[in-house]
Amino acid sequence: MFCCPACHARYAWGYLSHQCQACGGPLDFALERVAFPLQAIRARVPEFWRYAEALPVFEQPVTLGESLTPLAPCSIGTTQVLLKCEYSLPTGSYKDRGSALLISYLHALGVQEAVEDSSGNAGASLAAYAARAGLRLKVFCPASASPGKLLQIRLYGAELVPVEGPRPKATEALLEYVARTRAVYASHLWHPLFIEGVKTLAFEIAEQLGWSLPGAVLCPVGAGSILLGLHKGFGELCQVGVLPRLPRLVAVQARHVSPLYQAFVRGDQEVARALDPQPTLAEGIALPVPVRGRALLKAIRESGGAVVAVSEEEIAAGVKQFGQAGFCVEPTSAVVWAGVERLAQQGQLPARGPVVAVLSGHGLKAAQAMSQLVG
Ligand SMILES: [Zn+2]
Repeated sequence: MFCCPACHARYAWGYLSHQCQACGGPLDFALERVAFPLQAIRARVPEFWRYAEALPVFEQPVTLGESLTPLAPCSIGTTQVLLKCEYSLPTGSYKDRGSALLISYLHALGVQEAVEDSSGNAGASLAAYAARAGLRLKVFCPASASPGKLLQIRLYGAELVPVEGPRPKATEALLEYVARTRAVYASHLWHPLFIEGVKTLAFEIAEQLGWSLPGAVLCPVGAGSILLGLHKGFGELCQVGVLPRLPRLVAVQARHVSPLYQAFVRGDQEVARALDPQPTLAEGIALPVPVRGRALLKAIRESGGAVVAVSEEEIAAGVKQFGQAGFCVEPTSAVVWAGVERLAQQGQLPARGPVVAVLSGHGLKAAQAMSQLVG
């Protein structure tokens, strides 16, 4: 069920390490078969667990009532876009899809205690689901992360470990702790069950479009779990014949930390670490190198997609533009505004099918940064 794409080692259900024992790489997860009984799905509770035949089975899934998120129309310039409002999930970000699956898995295996590193949203989300499951969680975060996200982590009862310095310092501190204590690393960056949960985003978009294909889907990309989730979810819908092909998957990065963009324009197969990352408003995607770089490049190219990088000015403008359109999103999510504009300027909008942009997190999570932008 768990398979290493690099060395092809396989691991059974119940495997607890976040990486391949043989080569240290990240693992993939696959169910033996998936199915989409469309009529039956329509009659089920409007939450992502309705895609039960395409998800692992848990006797006691850990849930906070993850209702389907809205797909709301909005004009970006002259482009009509459908916004997938992931901030309406229980902790205010798309991460709840992955956390629900990952914590359900750890809970089913009887894990009592786990650790995680995060720029804020994943830590807050995992903390909420850990609270629901009665699991103790320790979260390593940059001390500079948005206070709202750090507050959420503490509110849900997780132990917050603030780490000075940029985002990678939190990972270093966590890995040192894991090596010393052998704690279970509930990593949203590494664990394939996190992506397994995020793939439901693709199922929802397809169902909300009457089981038809969007022309393109744009999302913010740091580690790339949204994009990889979309690729997996739409891929499974193609595999069983519900959709004819993948939509174009478009990754949007902050220019200040844009290793995927650099690799994509160079035509590379791997993503090299960003040489000189600069501070960015988009804290949720300020990752100098993604864990699954090769898979991201492959997914984007296979879908006929693209990568765009946007400036800090464009991110700030995006926050305001979304606000004026009635959407309160954090700067990390607002990158998609300029992403859509860039595709339109370059004549790269799809000829057919709606353009969907993923709004990953609520603006009030980053209230401090937002107040500086809005004035
Ligand atoms: Zn391996």
